[in-house]
Amino acid sequence: MTDEHEFVDPISGKTMTVVFGPEPLSPYDGKHGVRHDGCDRLADVSPELDAWYCTACQASGRISGAWFMDMWMTRGALHPP
Ligand SMILES: [Zn+2]
Repeated sequence: MTDEHEFVDPISGKTMTVVFGPEPLSPYDGKHGVRHDGCDRLADVSPELDAWYCTACQASGRISGAWFMDMWMTRGALHPP
C-alpha cells in the first residue's frame, strides 16, 4: 500500500506530498519521494541535506529531513545497513 504525507516546502510555501510506495523500501528506488508539479517521477529526498531533488526534471526544494525520517520509521520500514 502507499502512504502519503503532506508537508509545506519552506522555500516555495507550497503544500507538497511525500509518497511512500509499496514495500520493500530502499533509498533512491523511485518508489518513494516527493510528488511535484508536471512530473510523473517521485523526487529523491536527501534527509541529511533537508532537500529533495528530481533526477528526471531537475526540480528541487526543501524538506525537513528529521520529519521525513520520522515518517519513514513510522512505517516500520527502516532497515539499518
Ligand atoms: Zn521531476
